[in-house]
Amino acid sequence: MTIPKNYVLGYKCINCATEYEVKPFIYQCTKCGENLDVQYDYLEIGKNWTKTTLQENTDRSIHRYLPLLPIQKAPENTTMQVGGTPLITFHDVQTETTKIDLFLKDDTRNPSGSLKDRASEIGLLHADELGADILVAASTGNAAASLAALAAFHNKSAIILAPKSAPIAKLTQILQYGAKLFTVNGSYDDAFDLSLKIVDEYGLYSRSTGINPVLSEGKKTVILELLEQLQWDIPDKIFVPVGDGCIIGGAYKGLADLLSLGWIDHLPQLIAVQASGSSAIVDAIQYDRKIESVSANTIADSISVDFPRDGLKAIRAIKKTNGSGVLVTDAEILEAQKLLSANSGIFAEPAAASAFAGFLKLNSSGKIKSGEKIAILITGSGLKDIQTAQKQLSLPSLIEPTLEDFKRHNSDL
Ligand SMILES: *Cc1c(COP(=O)(O)O)cnc(C)c1O
Ligand SMILES: [Zn+2]
Repeated sequence: MTIPKNYVLGYKCINCATEYEVKPFIYQCTKCGENLDVQYDYLEIGKNWTKTTLQENTDRSIHRYLPLLPIQKAPENTTMQVGGTPLITFHDVQTETTKIDLFLKDDTRNPSGSLKDRASEIGLLHADELGADILVAASTGNAAASLAALAAFHNKSAIILAPKSAPIAKLTQILQYGAKLFTVNGSYDDAFDLSLKIVDEYGLYSRSTGINPVLSEGKKTVILELLEQLQWDIPDKIFVPVGDGCIIGGAYKGLADLLSLGWIDHLPQLIAVQASGSSAIVDAIQYDRKIESVSANTIADSISVDFPRDGLKAIRAIKKTNGSGVLVTDAEILEAQKLLSANSGIFAEPAAASAFAGFLKLNSSGKIKSGEKIAILITGSGLKDIQTAQKQLSLPSLIEPTLEDFKRHNSDL
């Protein structure tokens, strides 16, 4: 049996359905300007790849899903291990109104501390196949920190455009990994537009979210992994924090791939969680209209987006899975962030905690039934933005280094 090099058939516009060949590679539909899906030959994949062959694969990184990835081959060195993050499980969690099973997909455990590594890894390998050595990304912080880290590992160069408001830890990561950083005097959206101009002007590779179809393919691995960890037992709802919409779009793509392969027989609901100060996608769902730009303002920097660049894929993900959108306030995010850490041991950044806040909100409004299996994507580490977390904390008072003083300050032991 000859195994084809890879199973990519081509690209297809998610808006006007125009199909494109694999080569020459294009980012977006040249007819309507919308984003593209990567299309695979599921029939051929199914002949060569089964749940059993997957189970026998000892590679814990995202490259274990190679037949569903838009690259020719896995890198020889996968020791950086993008993906393979733990699924932290709590059975029979008793809430005020329900008893549920809770699955926390802890993607803070990726090399640079966020889910973005899944996309950067595939972007870097794809760029390599195209012969590109310099990648450009506009980012609110995590995509850039991630690209910088993995570019260092894969021996590539990265140019980063970040808004000046990005948290200091993320800017530090970018510099620490040796990428070339430009902080842009403007919003993320301004940085994004500039990144596209630079890519055009110099013919570089774009790792910017929402215009490069291979990035969704990287992000979808979080769902392939989640379902594999659940032994293909489909959860009822998956909560996803949403900014540009690339993660939730990728999540849907992963589910659609598994459905096409016959590895699952129905879809879980994808629940899009946005900050009420950055609500473009949830608004479009709520009012059943086109996505309109907002003026984003939220502490959850990773989901602070005026105009979502992968909005159409996000809307598709919500509608096709019979999902819904939920908005959470900054106060709700901060409260959820603390509650999550204190009850699970996971320190999530505000954007990641917003997914948990969305779950709490739906649960308290009676939209979750007892017995449901709830998965939550914890997309980035709280260590990336400690200033925000500190708002919920009060520093302890100073004590003398004596047992007497300890006792004076502590009544509960
Ligand atoms: C990027 C990011 C998101 C949002 O992902 P989109 O693809 O922009 O919707 C959520 N959480 C974290 C931690 C992120 O870095
Ligand atoms: Zn099109």
